[in-house]
Amino acid sequence: MQFIDLKAQYEHLKQDIDSAVNNVLSHGQYINGKEVEKLEYELQNYVGTNHSICCANGTDALQLALMALNIGHGDAVFVPAFTFMATAEVVSLAGAVPIFVDIDYDTFNINCESLKTAVKNIKEEGRLNPKAVIPVDLFGQPADYNALSDIAHRYNLYIIEDGAQGFGGTVKGRQACSFGDISTTSFFPAKPLGCYGDGGAIFTDDKELCDVIMSMRSHGKGNHKYDHVRIGVNSRLDTIQAAILLVKLNAFTEYELEMRQKWADMYNHLLEDKVKTPYIKQGFSSSYAQYTVTLSDKIQRDALKDYLKEKGIPTMIYYPKALHLQEAYRCLGYEKGSLPFSELACECVLSLPMHPYLTKEIIQEVSYAISEFMK
Ligand SMILES: *Cc1c(COP(=O)(O)O)cnc(C)c1O
Repeated sequence: MQFIDLKAQYEHLKQDIDSAVNNVLSHGQYINGKEVEKLEYELQNYVGTNHSICCANGTDALQLALMALNIGHGDAVFVPAFTFMATAEVVSLAGAVPIFVDIDYDTFNINCESLKTAVKNIKEEGRLNPKAVIPVDLFGQPADYNALSDIAHRYNLYIIEDGAQGFGGTVKGRQACSFGDISTTSFFPAKPLGCYGDGGAIFTDDKELCDVIMSMRSHGKGNHKYDHVRIGVNSRLDTIQAAILLVKLNAFTEYELEMRQKWADMYNHLLEDKVKTPYIKQGFSSSYAQYTVTLSDKIQRDALKDYLKEKGIPTMIYYPKALHLQEAYRCLGYEKGSLPFSELACECVLSLPMHPYLTKEIIQEVSYAISEFMK
């Protein structure tokens, strides 16, 4: 049994993917081929933003967003403590300081009260300038952008949506990756929409920001290739990856997202009286980048993980250690207990096999094993 079965997906899409890749090999435009622009067009149409800009990975996408918004030394950027390192790392790389914020224990997304308190504290302290918040659409469910945009308006913060896991999720029909001043996603193979290597994209409605990001991803390019008007980076999506993503985006919108929802519903049905199943807010939908259940404590969670492993069922812990307690951030001086829900989540979550090519039998096998364990 696979945790995420990329091979099964390839078997399914083999003809189209092989021919898309072969096309690129024949036309030979390995960098900036026409597939990249076509993908950008299809991505922005799906997400519903005016612009999309592809880049080399989801971390670069976040970094480019911060660069385009001129965030750097002396700025504070608010980040949930329960996420992948990349969300905070880019803030530090930009020269700004990540301020860690706790999460809602039901959705695992950023907690708005904790955010307000953190912003007020930073303002009172006066050392840093509150500049932006990076909500994460964790496990595929968008953060609460209604509440977040109120806070952002009140405190004059940019919203940078980290939609690396959120692509395909919605709030009242509006797509994830459309909620930020700038939004980003990742096409790492295991994400809901993944390529066969690294890839990422940036979304915005703002034409000026789009132009700046296009320039920045290409060494700060001006009017022509050897005209440089700002300091940028090299962050491109390879044409071959774009060609693969065009095929996969089609499968994603045609049926994969639906299948994820179907398997999640089946898990929910079989597990809801055994463990805490994912909580999706009213009006929200998740792309189920992960199907994550919550146990009552670390001992029970670790024992269940071991039990399932013995039965040949792979599981993952996203994430075993909150960011504010990472060695890399020891310099910021956070103490254990300072962000209790982020810390508790690290001890109690367990992600189960989830991908579009599951079967009813696999879901039953996993759910049955969990039921047996819970007895
Ligand atoms: C995967 C991920 C990233 C980084 O994406 P890469 O393409 O691996 O650089 C950023 N944030 C979150 C929440 C992620 O899950």
